[in-house]
Amino acid sequence: MSFSAAQFKQQFPLFSQPENRELVYLDNAATTQKPAVVIDAVRDFYLHSNANTHRSSHRLARRATEMVERVRNQAATFLNAGSVREIIFTRGATEGLNLLASSLTEGLAAGDEIVLSTAEHHANLVPWQMAARRHNLTIRYVPDEKGIPQFARLPEVLSPRTRIVSVTAGSNALGFRSDLELLRRMLRGRDLRWIVDAAQLAAHQLVDVQAIGCDFLVCSAHKFYGPTGIGLLYGREQWLQQMPPWQGGGEMIADVDLQSSHYAELPHKFEAGTSSLAAIAGLGACIEFLQQQDRVAMAAHEQGLLKSLHGQMAQLPGIELLSHGENNLGILAFSDSRFAPVDLMHWLDGKDIAVRVGHHCAQPLVRASGHSATLRASLAAYNTQEDVDRFVSAVAEFVQQLDSEKSAAVSEELAITDGWQADDFSALDLDALRSRRGWQERYRLLMQWSKSIAAKPAIRLPENTVKGCESSAWLAHQALHGKHYFALDSDSRVVKGLGAFLLLQLNGKSAEEIRQTDLESVFRELEFEKHLSPSRSNGFYALMQRVNELLGSVA
Ligand code: PMP
Repeated sequence: MSFSAAQFKQQFPLFSQPENRELVYLDNAATTQKPAVVIDAVRDFYLHSNANTHRSSHRLARRATEMVERVRNQAATFLNAGSVREIIFTRGATEGLNLLASSLTEGLAAGDEIVLSTAEHHANLVPWQMAARRHNLTIRYVPDEKGIPQFARLPEVLSPRTRIVSVTAGSNALGFRSDLELLRRMLRGRDLRWIVDAAQLAAHQLVDVQAIGCDFLVCSAHKFYGPTGIGLLYGREQWLQQMPPWQGGGEMIADVDLQSSHYAELPHKFEAGTSSLAAIAGLGACIEFLQQQDRVAMAAHEQGLLKSLHGQMAQLPGIELLSHGENNLGILAFSDSRFAPVDLMHWLDGKDIAVRVGHHCAQPLVRASGHSATLRASLAAYNTQEDVDRFVSAVAEFVQQLDSEKSAAVSEELAITDGWQADDFSALDLDALRSRRGWQERYRLLMQWSKSIAAKPAIRLPENTVKGCESSAWLAHQALHGKHYFALDSDSRVVKGLGAFLLLQLNGKSAEEIRQTDLESVFRELEFEKHLSPSRSNGFYALMQRVNELLGSVA
């Protein structure tokens, strides 16, 4: 088998709706789109099988009951559980974790310990905090570096009082995978319950609870192309048998009298009330759909996009990447001190590129990375290289526009105070000059750059004259908000081209930054000195000297 993202995407009707033809959907860690088979299964349930289960025995009720138990069977295979009694239908990962936090802590003694990681989703933090408060338990955290758990150091926080270890299989904020094999080895043989939050993992790889070796695992169908409102809780049968039910109500009882009740057998003991029946039907179709895919090729496709995404974003200056392209479930997270992530999110939204901004319900982790919010782009298998490229170029355009807006604003301010405007070099790219093959090509680009130096009669004053330059050249200077701006004018195109090369690297920097800029090396690296006539090279050095003099006079 193999995998084609284009063919896969065709199975998701949302993308072929007229209003969504240009949509780049990169918010998959929040929820994925649904294939036609899932949408049809939900609709078909209401058309052909809608009745409540168990409680009645007419034809439709029987049909609905059979459907639920058939999907439970499918789910047991999907997770490789030992039996259907180990599969509990929940509303999602959050409900699964609340169930565990409530039921597993009942009967624990004050001072017993729960170990979590700093990278957990709030769904795997808050329920434990609530339970800890109720039973006087202690929560300890796996040692971390900037919020990223160092699972190799887990034994440092394990103690004879540790009763529960509940950790994510992969971060929804930064994408990194947890080393489940390492966890298994460290937790083996200990008298505690190990819970894995696989909410993010399940979309990206096959989940095998027996191979993982955990006691419990939770996931949400909507994260792996299934409907909202339905999730799975896997639990080892021996532990589920011992645990008290979480919620009480219909369906979870065998017998009720006025003072007490007897509970139903597994798994129904944990399924109080009417389940999300249509969503269960959709989940069944979703599992079947996934089983028809080449999951290995699908994951390889996602990983290829993820590497491209990280590789391209790393090229954009000023962007602080918080995620890595390796060992990652499919998430790019970044920040940038030049703008608020929400502004970029709106810009992307304007181009119909959907991403998410915020703390991603993992506040402790995002805060530890030094931010209150990040921008997250998360992948699914229907994403394509074109999606990645459109996203990256939209971000690049936003950043470039921001820079030129900034320089335009500064220019205006300069114009008011000194009668001249700093030239706008935002369209010039030093790397473009570097990558030109051969001197002729580079010279041609330099001549184009000369056009970015506008005529400035206001600075053609004796005190601005650059001495040592063969042609007439004037350089004016101004400091604004601790940054330095220079304006050049000259009769010569070559001097203007060299001036653009020089000022591109200087304007808007502090004096210290300018002093640290090694212009001479760049000048030589680009072979200007070798190919320009000595008088032209000297002109460049004369400009540099004038820059240093002007800076010296303000130091
Ligand atoms: N854990 C993780 C790692 C998640 O990413 C999410 C959802 N973002 C959850 C738990 C909670 O899932 P749900 O909202 O579907 O209950």
